[in-house]
Amino acid sequence: MTKRGSQISASEDDSASDDRADTSHFAKPLLSNLKQYWGYPGFRALQREAMSLVMSDQDSLVVLPTGGGKSLCYQVPAISRDGLALIVSPLISLMKDQVDSLQSVGISAACINSMQTNREKIEVADKIRRRELKLLYIAPERLVQTKTVQFLQSAGVSFVAIDEAHCISQWGHDFRPEYRQLRNLKTIFPGISVHGYTATATEQVRADIVEQLGLTNCDILVGSFDRPNLQYRVERRTDAIGQIQRILNRHKGESGVIYCISRKHVDATSEALNRLGFCTLPYHAGMPDEDRRKNQEAFIDEDVNIIVATVAFGMGIDKSNVRFVIHAEMPRSLENYQQESGRAGRDGLEADCVLLYAANDVDTWEFLMQDTEDPAVLDAGRESLQAMKQYCVSTRCRHAQLVEHFGQILEASNCGACDFCLKEMEPVSDPLIVGQKILSSVVRQGERFGAAYTAQVLRGSRAKRIVENGHDKLTTHGLMKDESEPQLRNWIDQLLSQGFLRQAGEFNCLEVTPSGRLLLKGQQTPTLLRTRVADSAQPFEDPWSGVDRDLFEELRAMRTRLAIQKHVPPYIIFGDATLRDLARHRPTKGGMLTKISGIGAQKQKEFGAVVLFTIQQWCEANNVETNVGLDEAVKTRPALRQATKAPSEGKAQEYFDLFEQGLSMEDAAHQLGRSMDTVSKYLGMYVEAHRITEISPWVPPAMEKRINEAIGQIGSERLKPLFEHLKSEISYAHLRIAATAWNLRQADDE
Ligand code: ADP
Ligand code: ZN
Repeated sequence: MTKRGSQISASEDDSASDDRADTSHFAKPLLSNLKQYWGYPGFRALQREAMSLVMSDQDSLVVLPTGGGKSLCYQVPAISRDGLALIVSPLISLMKDQVDSLQSVGISAACINSMQTNREKIEVADKIRRRELKLLYIAPERLVQTKTVQFLQSAGVSFVAIDEAHCISQWGHDFRPEYRQLRNLKTIFPGISVHGYTATATEQVRADIVEQLGLTNCDILVGSFDRPNLQYRVERRTDAIGQIQRILNRHKGESGVIYCISRKHVDATSEALNRLGFCTLPYHAGMPDEDRRKNQEAFIDEDVNIIVATVAFGMGIDKSNVRFVIHAEMPRSLENYQQESGRAGRDGLEADCVLLYAANDVDTWEFLMQDTEDPAVLDAGRESLQAMKQYCVSTRCRHAQLVEHFGQILEASNCGACDFCLKEMEPVSDPLIVGQKILSSVVRQGERFGAAYTAQVLRGSRAKRIVENGHDKLTTHGLMKDESEPQLRNWIDQLLSQGFLRQAGEFNCLEVTPSGRLLLKGQQTPTLLRTRVADSAQPFEDPWSGVDRDLFEELRAMRTRLAIQKHVPPYIIFGDATLRDLARHRPTKGGMLTKISGIGAQKQKEFGAVVLFTIQQWCEANNVETNVGLDEAVKTRPALRQATKAPSEGKAQEYFDLFEQGLSMEDAAHQLGRSMDTVSKYLGMYVEAHRITEISPWVPPAMEKRINEAIGQIGSERLKPLFEHLKSEISYAHLRIAATAWNLRQADDE
């Protein structure tokens, strides 16, 4: 096996204009399909390379983090090649999501699974026979069934892609025995290339995947595991609900997940937040299946924004616009943390990942691990726990720590997206003195007390226990009374993590280590940081720059309505990135929509009119400039409809459906019980969005010719002069449509 590229660059968009050496002749058709179907202007890191391997039938394993864009690595080649691509996927919900999303961009895809009726299965089989399908999603156990194999062998299979490929390895975190059956793929489908995709980072798992799949000549592509759009923060947990509340307040109306360790905490946290006026739903394995399913769907459909869950929640959730993931308690390993926090910001937009931890989280996990009988597993579990704890109390860039854990190095010295790099933690000016004060209290207390007790002594508490022990007489009593308890506990954690203190015995009593003794003598200095609570998330560049937030909300509401109509989750209609782009550039002309990332031909055809209308109406009502930062030539062209009050949306779709069926304006007016004038306003939007210049279904050619002559003389800016010029013989409705088509032709000619 050969390792082609191991790339540690941030997963920035690798734009089309980028002229890095790529001799692949596949790039052009791939890029053109990426644009046409998905409306994306360029490849993300390693996508072009990964896609080229599929195009050239070279077996491959592609390792990219969650949100790195793995699906497109096989979806774009699938439609750029002849034949049917088989996609192995572990979960029905994942398959369904992918099929919905492919269909929404106009690609013929289907899945076969156990939840389907016989009739549905037959329909899919018929499509395969007719060679109409481009992608078929299928579970591994079904793919290797003799009957399926026989059927597919004559179906013109182009290649096999294996999603979540780590499921084949028992070293991975999600081993699925049924994946083992994929070992025979190379024999079952001789000559067909096999491509695996995973976000799992360890070398061992990678090697195992390749071996299990029997890929003797396999190219491996490994991307950077860093997720630059995620902002990582750690806070010591002092008042969990209060802390969560503060985080939720900076994400009003946005989707997010709150993870807790136990079912009990899930329920308690969800209830407490609901009492505070938030709207949350719980999710854990102790709930009836039906309730769980309902809560998960409510989250995906954005009926509710916040899910409080155990780790049981997340697999099979492709929701791209999760804006925050809060861990109310520490996860059991960095692998878990990376995976769970990684569910935020799949769309590449900024997202907030906050971890609240307290020392007793470690005890909770230790307790839960006790049931594990295998000592090797127990040791590994403890090791993972230690690494996780270290991350919580460390004093370095979080992004750097995470990628290093997975064997990579972060090149940027300041990630711009963690509590350290954002300077939310400032170095204290006199770390030696602070360290000495704390350590000397530990020594004076006889090294027989824990962190909480020590912090209380330093703050001058007169708690019964302290007085009884005579520790209110210590010189260190009240020595740091101006510092908060969480701050003191935090410094103790930092001293622990830097090896100046250690915890001993059943009660985690603090002891001073040999380096601690040097510190007391002033021969070693710790690094101590003061934490400042973040009230706002401020990344490097403002990802909301130029976005009209109110219009964004308006577009979100539009998206929800469309999602309900189409029976798909909102993020399948448009991603958040697309809505932001729309609210930033505020296009009002059909031709401009193609410039918005995430709007391909199908989306434009299906939703273009509603989008343009929503923007136009909102901007007019709020006196906000439209067509910002888009083609100037288009921008200055007169907008015909601006003179007239735009009709109300919502109903738009019922008009568009009729136009789609080719109804004349008269018939549509009759059917909907509206005036011709109203119908013509909707038709104007429709014609514009679809860039229709052939308008004979609505304006007879002879009439259009007359109107065009008039426009040729006096222009198309305003309808009234046209109406008068034509001696009131042609209705405003017809004039409006003809003038719209005229403008479109002009735009096309320019
Ligand atoms: P993964 O499977 O690696 O977790 P996905 O394939 O789900 O990632 O992609 C994550 C998100 O990024 C999706 O919303 C997808 O449409 C988007 N995306 C993928 N490739 C691109 C690209 N080249 N340009 C813009 N967005 C992209
Ligand atoms: Zn950082």
